[in-house]
Amino acid sequence: MPYKDKEKGRQRAKENYWKNREKRILQVKRYYKKNWAKRNKQKKQWAKKNKEKLREYRKNYYKRYYQTEKGKAILKKSGKKWLESNKFKRLCHYAVRNAIRRSELIKPKRCTQCNRKIRMLGHHPNYTKPLDVLWVCHDCHMAFHHLNFTRKPE
Ligand SMILES: [Zn+2]
Ligand SMILES: [Zn+2]
Repeated sequence: MPYKDKEKGRQRAKENYWKNREKRILQVKRYYKKNWAKRNKQKKQWAKKNKEKLREYRKNYYKRYYQTEKGKAILKKSGKKWLESNKFKRLCHYAVRNAIRRSELIKPKRCTQCNRKIRMLGHHPNYTKPLDVLWVCHDCHMAFHHLNFTRKPE
């Protein structure tokens, strides 16, 4: 009877399915793991090659993001923070100016880094110490800020 054979075949297929299930899952898992590592490596290489492109992309992304309601709220909040910390920096600069006027602080004639005799700038290594300034020229000041600039680990 053809009906019975069909039923038997179906039964066997079902059994095979369950028998091979674990094996298949393992295979798929292994495949994804291998490919994931490979793709991750490719992604990193691509990012290295396309640094400028990525930067542009990020810039556009944030531009768009800050136009959304959520982004606007964050911008407002961080803007306030920026203003507050800048206010504090300005106060530090005033403190330095006043200290010089009172001769509590002496502004040297030469850059403490390159020893050139030009206009000095007071660099604050630490804004919690307003009168702890390092006197440098413009060039050395720029170098300071770039050298001391460390990106937050991502
Ligand atoms: Zn200098
Ligand atoms: Zn500075």
